[in-house]
Amino acid sequence: MNVSVVLFTSDLRVHDHPPLRAALGPGDEVVPLFVRDPAVDRAGFAAPNRLAFLADCLADLDAGLRERGGRLVLRTGDLVEEVCAVVREADADEVHMAAGGSAFARDREDRLRRGLEADGRRLYVHDGVVTALPAGAVTPSGSDHFAVFTPYFRRWSTERLREPLDAPRKVPVPKGIRSDPLPARPDAATLSPGLAAGGESEGRKRLTAWLSRHADAYEDRHDDLPGDATSRLSPHLHFGALSAAEAVDRARSRGGAGAEAFVRQLCWRDFHHQVLAARPEAAVQDYRTHDDRWRGGSEAEADLKAWKEGRTGYPVVDAAMRQLAHEGWMHNRGRLLAASFLTKTLYIDWRAGARHFLDLLVDGDVANNQLNWQWMAGTGTDSRPNRVLNPVLQGKRYDPDGVYVRRWVPELAGIEGAAVHEPWKLPGLERARYDYPDPLVELADGLARFRHARGRD
Ligand code: FAD
Repeated sequence: MNVSVVLFTSDLRVHDHPPLRAALGPGDEVVPLFVRDPAVDRAGFAAPNRLAFLADCLADLDAGLRERGGRLVLRTGDLVEEVCAVVREADADEVHMAAGGSAFARDREDRLRRGLEADGRRLYVHDGVVTALPAGAVTPSGSDHFAVFTPYFRRWSTERLREPLDAPRKVPVPKGIRSDPLPARPDAATLSPGLAAGGESEGRKRLTAWLSRHADAYEDRHDDLPGDATSRLSPHLHFGALSAAEAVDRARSRGGAGAEAFVRQLCWRDFHHQVLAARPEAAVQDYRTHDDRWRGGSEAEADLKAWKEGRTGYPVVDAAMRQLAHEGWMHNRGRLLAASFLTKTLYIDWRAGARHFLDLLVDGDVANNQLNWQWMAGTGTDSRPNRVLNPVLQGKRYDPDGVYVRRWVPELAGIEGAAVHEPWKLPGLERARYDYPDPLVELADGLARFRHARGRD
């Protein structure tokens, strides 16, 4: 009988889990292991909203394993030391885990491989678990990654993805392996009040319901801010409670323009992962620099604070920022507008915005957050790096009746229709009724400052 350890990281599920399936031959036993490593917190990856979602995912993973006769073993401490200790306790020969794309994940894999090999054991790292297509599986000629989305998407679309795997029917776990208690959700006072619940069961239910009820309308409605018509699967995908390969497979089986548009968005996720895998430094450095000399000093600090608090004076930007604070999640169109406003209209460093998003987003993810921020700041892969989104025009376009703004900025609830996007235009006395700030900067002035800084005037 063979005993293996299956190390769960960003793949907290029992369905479509290649490492689990690979470890479970007939008669084999596995130790399903998750290590709560303080290094993850120290690296700034832990935030209360994500820790709450993680606690839900671990509880649900444990339940999924128990249904199959197993359980989750949880250890706390340095990942390499803990895995090696469990391997020795279980007298396991092998460890199976999913490949990670970030520099942090790869360093962790290397250290683990060395630690295990020193003990005469083997590490098997499985590709295509976290993303639908493994990072680096397709490359353009002459480069180690695609720097432009459209050719990547074309190539990605022709690749055969692996078939999604069923969950194993039985997960036999050796007796006597010690486990720490599973983590509880952090104190509710530290969490966004409207935070979603996590876990594989929840993610699978959401995918099924969304594909059957909403996917057909996705192509037309994914930018509809008040309609909230996107899947909200990003946190489930981030924690791997839902497999990206399975989401693509099921959307393709459903077919139709909406499902295809959804698959294209899932490809954006893979796109950013393959950029980060090839350029890990893009998590903190400009991918394509313009030698920006971002604003600093007390005035910029005050602007950044107003942006974080949703008090910029631009209602759609403020609505988006307040949705983030309340839910730990923000609509994609809101993310684009908030990021354009910070980096271009206020000309504040994308890293400050990305940090704030990572502090709150339940789907906060180094690849997708940092590279989307860079995309919007024009330091990333956008082929139009100097585009600036006008929050008034965008608000009127994607929230034409002002419903989204009134939902999140209640002090403007008395203003009807699209007029809510420009409260400063109200006649003096009426304007005075609303306790809402004047714009931090005129859009024309923000644009001129940005164009000047980028040498475009
Ligand atoms: P849907 O529209 O239903 O899309 C389905 C899935 O496709 C998403 O769940 C997501 O996994 C993927 N996806 C969609 N759009 C993108 C995109 N632009 N880039 C990468 N993947 C995408 N997404 C994250 O998962 N984590 C982040 O930390 C993150 N930070 C962002 C920061 C900024 C400034 C911007 C502009 C976008 C960011 N995104 C991030 C991408 C996108 O906004 C979210 O994935 C999306 O809003 C999640 O909602 P959904 O699940 O309803 O998406």
